[in-house]
Amino acid sequence: MSPAAAPAPTAGLVIAVDGPAAAGKGTLARTLAQHFGIDHLDTGALYRAVGLRVLRVGGDPADPTVSEQQARALATVDLRHPDLRSMQAAEAASLVATHLGVRAALLEFQRRFATHPPGGKGAVLDGRDIGTVVLPDAPHKIFVTASPAARAKRRWLELPEASRPALAEIEAQVRQRDARDQERAIAPLKPAPDAFLLDTTDLDIDAAFAAAKAYLSRR
Ligand code: C5P
Repeated sequence: MSPAAAPAPTAGLVIAVDGPAAAGKGTLARTLAQHFGIDHLDTGALYRAVGLRVLRVGGDPADPTVSEQQARALATVDLRHPDLRSMQAAEAASLVATHLGVRAALLEFQRRFATHPPGGKGAVLDGRDIGTVVLPDAPHKIFVTASPAARAKRRWLELPEASRPALAEIEAQVRQRDARDQERAIAPLKPAPDAFLLDTTDLDIDAAFAAAKAYLSRR
């Protein structure tokens, strides 16, 4: 995860996918990667892994110093942590993600993944700031949204039935995370001016994929 030398541009297909929590961007990004035979990077996992590292060392994810230290120490094994998809990791991620030092520490890794994808053919990166900050020159950008109620319902359905909190609690968390991601000073969540806006409130994954593919084939 250490910073790499200045990357040269790849000739492959590069797609930036951004959007708020549970809008369906991860599933869409994975499906696009499979379809085109290119690599996928879930950049939210990087922030989640940093958040969990901070909690593990007994730090506060709101503390920029410990958060940056843990971002700089991030290792591939952290991305396989069993709690990576937990609400606790999501919450910690959205706090560490507000720190400039954390974002700077993760930036080169993300750019290098896009320019030197492991499979050599291209990459799709999903996150919050891929089209605006990480890869502002990406030729293809998709901003995936859905209503907060639809996103909360999806998140809720993903949780194990036995330990599901009330749907209203999940919706409150989704709205709080949206606000934090949209209102932060550095790399806030917002569509790039040249992004294709894809509202998945009433779309299943097949319909969302078809709309994304139609956008890509128009270009
Ligand atoms: O996408 P996911 O829910 O896994 O992201 C967790 C958190 O990580 C987000 O709420 C956001 O605060 C942060 N994040 C970010 N920039 C990215 C990806 C994720 O700030 N590119």
